Amino acid sequence: MGRTLTIRKLLVANRGEIACRVIRAAKKLGLGTVQVVSEADTESLAARLADEIKVIGPPQASKSYLDAHAILSAARESGADAIHPGYGFLSESAHFADAVEQSGLIFVGPSGDTIRLMGNKAAARKRARHAGVPTVPGSDGLIVNIDDALALAETIGFPVMIKANGGGGGRGIRVAESAGEFRKLVPQASSEAAAAFGDGGVYIEKLIEKARHVEVQLLGDGLDVVHLFERECSLQRRRQKVWEEAPSAAISDAARARLCASAVELARSVNYRGAGTVEYLYDDATGEFYFIEMNTRIQVEHPVTEMICGTDLVADMIRVCAGEALGLTQGAISRTGHAIEVRINAEDPANDFMPVPGNVGGLRIPEGDGIRFDHMLYDGYEVPPFYDSLLGKLIVWAPDRAQAIARLMSALEVLDIGGLPTTAPLFTALASNDDVQANAIHTRWMETWLEQDTGKFANHREVTA
Ligand code: ADP
Ligand code: ADP
Ligand code: MG
Repeated sequence: MGRTLTIRKLLVANRGEIACRVIRAAKKLGLGTVQVVSEADTESLAARLADEIKVIGPPQASKSYLDAHAILSAARESGADAIHPGYGFLSESAHFADAVEQSGLIFVGPSGDTIRLMGNKAAARKRARHAGVPTVPGSDGLIVNIDDALALAETIGFPVMIKANGGGGGRGIRVAESAGEFRKLVPQASSEAAAAFGDGGVYIEKLIEKARHVEVQLLGDGLDVVHLFERECSLQRRRQKVWEEAPSAAISDAARARLCASAVELARSVNYRGAGTVEYLYDDATGEFYFIEMNTRIQVEHPVTEMICGTDLVADMIRVCAGEALGLTQGAISRTGHAIEVRINAEDPANDFMPVPGNVGGLRIPEGDGIRFDHMLYDGYEVPPFYDSLLGKLIVWAPDRAQAIARLMSALEVLDIGGLPTTAPLFTALASNDDVQANAIHTRWMETWLEQDTGKFANHREVTA
């Protein structure tokens, strides 16, 4: 600790809406900004917002946003003294965090050692157990021997989940219903994980049925850690969040206190620095919660927490990583009202969420009290086909959940991404659904609902055809 550092110029090692979000926070703090871009992103909104841009390579992420060497060269050439990794890409690479610090720059995140401990899913499970945080029943570490793993799976009871140690964004997860499937899926999952994440390690967990996804937002300065309450992200498609809210309307104040305290304890045990999230599954039926992973970075859904707590998490993480003390006590953090975020992707929900990159013409953005749109768009912007399809996030706040849902519906009526099909109609349908309104949901609810009625977005298809 005792980091006496300052940042004057911040390099943003990401793209899309999060790059714009980081630039905004940096400007608020009075910092200069450098945006690294691939050749496909020279006309991006982030490139336009930043003070300087550095082209680091061709469109393929492996040759640009994932190229640590190119990013470090850009930082040196532009005289940046810190790097913000955003989410995805290199944000949870311990190797990258080390390389940044070894070059004498500040990594806006925890140390490489902390990422090694907590960003690695199987290691984080062990760490959580040591800190007294309940984890999902499963393997003690990675699977080394298929016979031993099968014996364990049989003790836990099928179905079990096979999860990739280096997985993220809902990828690298398999469900085995039987011993036969288990024997077949483990080697498959392992070789796919090796190809996708550069880490073939897999581990197993009991499948918790009808659980909710509840996660705790943390902020640490290497000495102290505070929480900013929880978010619920149970509406998921392919195990990826699509709608997130804060607070969770499903947990009692007593459960909330236990959940937040356990997350703080875990982060304190590793002297956590920066913004981080501890994710749990919450079982309504028993009131039990189980640790699933820690994300050692800013998350996509951080704005719902900002809306109920009145904070700027991205500015805060930059501050503490620059060596400033947290300057926040737990008692000073309060929350009010209810916030909901929905992910607006360039995908057509009427056509099995097929990605539809294209040109944005006649952008219409909802505005007003309790409405925020974090995005990467402008009129005439050409959405490139090379990356994640997230265009922006619509976030609403209101005094309570029902009013937040109503506000979401009216904001969605205004939102128009200039003729591009987006996931917006999905959220209009969800916001008017009885189960969603009653908060009678779980992590598999949305997939079942999508299967039940395939004509849900038919109107939308006519409108956009
Ligand atoms: P997780 O699903 O890992 O718990 P988030 O919901 O915050 O966390 O989603 C982060 C995921 O978004 C990454 O793991 C990655 O799959 C995807 N992603 C990475 N980079 C970007 C980006 N620039 N824009 C949109 N999505 C991204
Ligand atoms: P990622 O790193 O891809 O974000 P997570 O471990 O956070 O992976 O899991 C993503 C989602 O998968 C969870 O939000 C949940 O819906 C589902 N999931 C993960 N583990 C389990 C489990 N043991 N039982 C049931 N669902 C799970
Ligand atoms: Mg996760």
